[in-house]
Amino acid sequence: MNELLSKNIDELGEILVKMGEKPFVAKQLKAWLDKGALFGEMTNLSKSLRQKLSDNYTEGYAKVVEKLTSTDGTIKYLMSMHGGGLIECVVMTYEHGSTLCVSTQIGCRMGCTFCASGSEGLIRNLSTAEMMSQFIEVNKHDRISNVVLMGSGEPLDNYDNTVAFIRALNTEQDIGMRHISLSTCGIVQGILKLARENMQVTLCLSLHSALDNKRKQIMPTANAYSVKEIIDAAKIYFKNTGRRIIIEYTLISGFNDSGSDIDALVSVTKALSCHINVIPLNQVSGDLTEPSQKQAYAFAAQLTSRGRSATVRRSLGSDIEGACGQLKFKREGQ
Ligand code: SAH
Repeated sequence: MNELLSKNIDELGEILVKMGEKPFVAKQLKAWLDKGALFGEMTNLSKSLRQKLSDNYTEGYAKVVEKLTSTDGTIKYLMSMHGGGLIECVVMTYEHGSTLCVSTQIGCRMGCTFCASGSEGLIRNLSTAEMMSQFIEVNKHDRISNVVLMGSGEPLDNYDNTVAFIRALNTEQDIGMRHISLSTCGIVQGILKLARENMQVTLCLSLHSALDNKRKQIMPTANAYSVKEIIDAAKIYFKNTGRRIIIEYTLISGFNDSGSDIDALVSVTKALSCHINVIPLNQVSGDLTEPSQKQAYAFAAQLTSRGRSATVRRSLGSDIEGACGQLKFKREGQ
């Protein structure tokens, strides 16, 4: 059955007029849909309209299939999408509010060796409404103040739907652009396009190594874009938006944690306004080794002693496989 969540006010108006309603009812209907209400709960719509809507349409929400709570309070949702397929999204609670980590694709075709999300390739892009349905579902229980596009998928590989989602978060859900972060493995054209959108979203760059030959070993996209091209694009992003870039650096013991790795990282970030987030690897495959907490803090400390702004990202939800790289999709029926 057709869903209504993806429709804008004008489209909803057309549907309602065909049902004999006044166009202004579209605004009321949209406000309910943005809140995640079921047709039966839309109390300022007439009973007969609610009946007609449920006879002919579905709301289009995601369905929560499973909800796991970590000992640290992080909650992972397994949700079934309206268009079919399962995704995971995660809510992390910090002192300043709750952050939702949204998935933008089912699977991922970037193929980073350390990340579980891409291990089976890309299944499909999520629509704007499907991304929004993750927010709506979670926001019903837990007031979300920040959104990070860091779940499964590469947001810039699903560019139009992702940008439309960000705009809708801002206009329909009142999430400030400065409370939204987008993480990319470094698709240069996408970064440059995003820089022209006039949105003050924080750009997070998954760098993981400042050396092209090392990056290529763990990230296939490094064959398409050099570190220099990515950093140059990030500089343009900063120039256009004024938003400091977040460099994500997944620390892999014995791979990207040596003195020369630090030298290279310090050098490429020299003229870039950025903060470096050191993310201790969450091991998902056998051949890469997790660093100890001590190693991660020592790495960050060396960066700060060299004049860089750097912190270690707290790993949340690892006991429920909700930490970075562990959002592996599950096939229906599995
Ligand atoms: N495709 C986007 C967003 C998804 S990944 C991107 O590449 O940025 C979100 C972050 O988690 C990225 O920085 C990614 O590199 C990191 N990550 C993925 N797998 C990880 C793992 N096993 N351990 C630690 N960080 C991981």
